Amino acid sequence: MDISVIVPLYNEAESLPELHAWIQRVMEENGFSYEIIFVNDGSTDGSWQVIEDLAARFSEVKGIKFRRNYGKSPALFCGFRRAEGDVVITMDADLQDSPDEIPELRRMIVEDGYDLVSGYKQKRYDPLSKTIPTKLFNATARKVSGIKNLHDFNCGLKAYRRDVVKNIEVYGEMHRYIPYLAKEAGFTKIGEKVVHHQARKYGSTKFGLDRFVNGYLDLLSLWFLSRFGLKPMHVFGLLGSLMFILGFIAVLIVGFGKLYAMSAGLPYRLVTDSPYFFIALTMMILGTQLFVAGFLGELISRNSNLRNNYQIEKEL
Ligand code: UDP
Ligand code: MG
Repeated sequence: MDISVIVPLYNEAESLPELHAWIQRVMEENGFSYEIIFVNDGSTDGSWQVIEDLAARFSEVKGIKFRRNYGKSPALFCGFRRAEGDVVITMDADLQDSPDEIPELRRMIVEDGYDLVSGYKQKRYDPLSKTIPTKLFNATARKVSGIKNLHDFNCGLKAYRRDVVKNIEVYGEMHRYIPYLAKEAGFTKIGEKVVHHQARKYGSTKFGLDRFVNGYLDLLSLWFLSRFGLKPMHVFGLLGSLMFILGFIAVLIVGFGKLYAMSAGLPYRLVTDSPYFFIALTMMILGTQLFVAGFLGELISRNSNLRNNYQIEKEL
């Protein structure tokens, strides 16, 4: 099969027939064999009914129905697991992404050899309250992930080589960082295509401004995981040791300073009268705690089922 189109959706009943007809038209014009996997993320409107009707009429239409709303990432995860096409396309259900982009996205994967091609909504039809934070967000994501050529990490319209979606695990709200996940998994040929974007025709957005706060926290987590996920001691141990050593040196200075002053007959005071004593104490305690956090982290990662999860491309 040439293409799998995965559409995560939450309460998008009005858009679905139009979206399906549009995808179908594009596929038929280009002679692709395809499947469309609608992942109904616990919609409370008539979305599932629409999907059932479509699936009854068209053999290319497949559906997954969640019992409740889990989020876009879990929806994509289940779609990825099911996809059979050589190229996998994800797109939002709200008709903001245009299926007309599919042939070119596929060409970039098949002919230009990209692992992942992300859409770039250069001209957006979204409110300013969304576009400005989005710019900031993408700048940070570029910096942290090291994928310097992407302008729009969170674009719903993306194309993947099948290997990519079978070898990454999207979870939580990590759909914003799929290119980063792909890069960490060793799929480094990541490209971008400017795509048309339209204002939402039906329904309303499912994400509020909290997306930016959560987005930043998730980015931090990913960065940490990719750096230290399997070797937490390298960060906690280092910080802990540094703190402990500094604290210990400070204690020595305070203690020996007093002993020296006593033996030399100089005026002296209780070590507990010196602020340095308390600073030193705190540093030693924090240092020990960081160290223990490192050990605990090691214990956890030793038990992680990801500890020996490698991407083996070929074996002979
Ligand atoms: N979506 C989903 N589960 C959710 C929230 C959203 O499957 O919990 C889908 C939604 O139906 C749409 C896509 O994710 O197909 C993108 O959502 P939306 O258009 O609301 O996001 P925006 O365009 O505002 O970034
Ligand atoms: Mg949208």
